[in-house]
Amino acid sequence: MTPEGEALLRQGAAELGLNVDTQVPAFAALLDLLVAANTRVNLTALKTEPDIVLKHFVDSLSCLRGGHLDGAERVIDLGTGAGFPALPLAIMAPDTTFTPLDSIRKKIDFVRAAAASLGLTNVTAQVGRAETLGRDPDHREGYDRVVCRAVAALPILAELGLPLLKPGGRLVAQKGPISEAELQAGRQAAAEVGGRVTVVDAFTLPVLGDARTLVVIEKTGPTPAKYPRREGVPNQQPLF
Ligand code: SAM
Repeated sequence: MTPEGEALLRQGAAELGLNVDTQVPAFAALLDLLVAANTRVNLTALKTEPDIVLKHFVDSLSCLRGGHLDGAERVIDLGTGAGFPALPLAIMAPDTTFTPLDSIRKKIDFVRAAAASLGLTNVTAQVGRAETLGRDPDHREGYDRVVCRAVAALPILAELGLPLLKPGGRLVAQKGPISEAELQAGRQAAAEVGGRVTVVDAFTLPVLGDARTLVVIEKTGPTPAKYPRREGVPNQQPLF
């Protein structure tokens, strides 16, 4: 990582109230791994150092706003892609176990290789679909938190995420600006699957100023056994 890249990482993290002094080497190593892997397989559209630092690393760290992940032992990252937000969060929280999940094997191959190379023993990546894991007794109600970034509309996230949460767990969705219509549909879907929208935190990304929203859905009751519906249905026929 160049001195300019490191300065952007430090500034972005500082604006989120985070100190990354001890984590800078891990982020620098992740940057190198991502850039190298991206020349072989198409993992991410972001290719320049400032873009990766701000739009992947700092953007992922913004999931820590508000302390909604605090105290979690097991966190699943639904639709992690090349490991975002899971890998930056795992670098910051070594005592929390992260399960980056994606249906695309080549992406999880990268996440596994990156976690091994960085010595992140708190990462256990998984290939699969959320619909399948949500019905698997090894995963259903197995997590304290679901995090996700840029995966689907809120009603879809509610159906995919709530089955994976323990009672009292929380889904933390990092999104761009969210419309009142999506929020309303998300509230209705959350109620249907045993949850309640408790936080809608609109903010701007450090340095870049892009609009983001953290939406938290708390699991307030059991998710009916019929959810999640079979693969693809939550996307094709959202609950609301
Ligand atoms: N979260 C990453 C990020 O912010 O860079 C990746 C975002 S990408 C737009 C969405 C990812 O979610 C894709 O890699 C896709 O394969 C995955 N995905 C979408 N629906 C999924 C599902 N039902 N189960 C597992 N993965 C899913």
